[in-house]
Amino acid sequence: MLTNNPFLAQLKNICEAYAAYPLANRSTFKIGGQAEFAAFPKTQAELCALIKLAKTCDVRARVFGNASNILFSSEGVSGLVIFTNQIKEISLEGENIRASCGVKLSSFCNLALKNELSGAEFAFGIPGTVGGAVYMNAGAHGGEISHILVESTCLDMRTGETLTLSASEHCFAYRTSVFEKGELLVLSSLFKLRKGTGEEIEAKMKEYTEKRKASQPLTMPSAGSVFKRPAVGFSGKYIEDAGLKGYKIGGAQVSEKHAGFIVNAGGATSCDVLALIEKIKTVVSEKFGVMLETEIIYVE
Ligand SMILES: Cc1cc2nc3c(=O)[nH]c(=O)nc-3n(C[C@H](O)[C@H](O)[C@H](O)COP(=O)(O)OP(=O)(O)OC[C@H]3O[C@@H](n4cnc5c(N)ncnc54)[C@H](O)[C@@H]3O)c2cc1C
Repeated sequence: MLTNNPFLAQLKNICEAYAAYPLANRSTFKIGGQAEFAAFPKTQAELCALIKLAKTCDVRARVFGNASNILFSSEGVSGLVIFTNQIKEISLEGENIRASCGVKLSSFCNLALKNELSGAEFAFGIPGTVGGAVYMNAGAHGGEISHILVESTCLDMRTGETLTLSASEHCFAYRTSVFEKGELLVLSSLFKLRKGTGEEIEAKMKEYTEKRKASQPLTMPSAGSVFKRPAVGFSGKYIEDAGLKGYKIGGAQVSEKHAGFIVNAGGATSCDVLALIEKIKTVVSEKFGVMLETEIIYVE
């Protein structure tokens, strides 16, 4: 019985934890089977302790924020899945903000607004956490995390040591960073903002929200843009021009509103989404000679 599992008992000594944890409601795609184990640390220390325990017990541990860029396998996910979104410490340091990995980007932007600090407006509306956004070098409206990040405090999962990475050591590029290697975890990051006016910051945040509402299928479950921006043109435009808008496999559908999104139109499985991704790649490659690269991350 998993509920009597000694590993689970040790997880529970650290924080809230479960065996056979249903993942679908933890991801913005609303897709996923059960995680073998799931844990919900409330502090950076608990997160570090979980990683240490998993290493000692030889259990694979994977860390997520809001799982807004993730496709969990409908067959379930092995090992330990850790969600950081209860690690919420955030503080002002002059005109800078230091935020823990689990802080939602919306909370980060609202603190910046409250203190009339500008530079983070682009991130308002991205439904992720600081850790996920740093990993992905999330961006929108011409801004991205790399433009405002000063440094991150990280856990080296191989050694259990904490270290500070400067901005250049993050090796940021379009929707990627050094964290993709899977060796380091973001515990917290420091962001450099600048003095602005509340009216201007709020106006930008409102403008970006309206743009999202007008162009993205925000009322349906998704994981955002499925593909990275190709070297030339936009993935959504290629997919639309290929005649795939609205195309469906099982419960997975190319969004009618924005062809760069796949939505869960009801009961979609990870297999439906993966099959639709392959179909899109094949058709776009045949019609336009463009190889689309997947941005969302499949986890099994
Ligand atoms: C409707 C919608 C709109 C979106 N719009 C945008 C957009 O405009 N721009 C954009 O860039 N993205 C967008 N996204 C995608 C997504 O929100 C971002 O990539 C976001 O930054 C992911 O953050 P997260 O906390 O959800 O990370 P998750 O999805 O939980 O994880 C993403 C990756 O980061 C890793 N990770 C998470 N936390 C940590 C940590 N503490 N340390 C190390 N690695 C970690 C995970 O292991 C995973 O590999 C959108 C998604 C949706 C659903």
